[in-house]
Amino acid sequence: MSDGDSVGTVYLVGSGPGDPDLLTVKAAELIEAADVVLHDKLPGPEILGQIPEGKREDVGKRAGGEWTPQEYTNRRLVELAREGKSVVRLKGGDPFVFGRGGEEAEHLAEAGVPFEVVPGVTSAIAGPAVAGIPVTHRDHASSVSFVTGHEDPTKEESAVDWDALAATGGTIVVLMGVGKLPAYTAELRDAGLGGDTPVALVERATWPGMRVATGTLDTIVDARDEAGIEPPAITVIGDVAATRDRVLAFLQNGDGQGDGHGDRGGDDA
Ligand code: SAH
Repeated sequence: MSDGDSVGTVYLVGSGPGDPDLLTVKAAELIEAADVVLHDKLPGPEILGQIPEGKREDVGKRAGGEWTPQEYTNRRLVELAREGKSVVRLKGGDPFVFGRGGEEAEHLAEAGVPFEVVPGVTSAIAGPAVAGIPVTHRDHASSVSFVTGHEDPTKEESAVDWDALAATGGTIVVLMGVGKLPAYTAELRDAGLGGDTPVALVERATWPGMRVATGTLDTIVDARDEAGIEPPAITVIGDVAATRDRVLAFLQNGDGQGDGHGDRGGDDA
């Protein structure tokens, strides 16, 4: 792909939630044709496992548990493009839903590097979906909000207005929200959402070993701890989360194990 003379293109590509069958055709073609694929862990083991190691560069968490600085990734994208390479920046889900895809696009534009955005299936919708939870439902939720559960600890005020979210009555989907689950479930209750509001956690959606834990605003922290739910996981808060119970017996991809048990208030992984 590279001719060494001209600047290569960077493709900001969404991988979808992890199942290789949920890659878009375009994403699969670009990965195949790329000289280099810069990625973190979020595309999941199956998709990453299909990319030859020789053309992969991991810009996610390093061995010591430290994140690769965003500045490094930005610089590396520009550097590779200027070498004339065709570069895929592969990001989990959709490249512009959290995960700093917007910042990378701005950086590329500033550096004068041509780039293209290739949307992907976001885990924010697909995660709940494969667990049997529609993020909207004519009878239960006419709006949905996507929020980060990972607050910048240096911020004085919460970046997310939990009071306002509680007041909308719509579905709340929290990304990066495993660690701070106790804090924001408490905030939502303080803001007036009932303790019996259904909540579900979908861990590693569409990956091998996907798991789901369900409960309510009152019980979900215990359910998380009992099941040992870890990132990456999606939190779905709202009446739609109870839909899972009504469809689970017939749901084929609900938890990757097909055991068909729907035990609200506990772990049904
Ligand atoms: N761009 C991504 C989100 C990046 S933020 C997207 O559109 O999906 C990272 C967060 O995404 C994780 O903390 C988790 O909340 C969520 N996430 C991504 N992939 C996931 C998956 N397969 N299962 C569950 N949660 C996932």
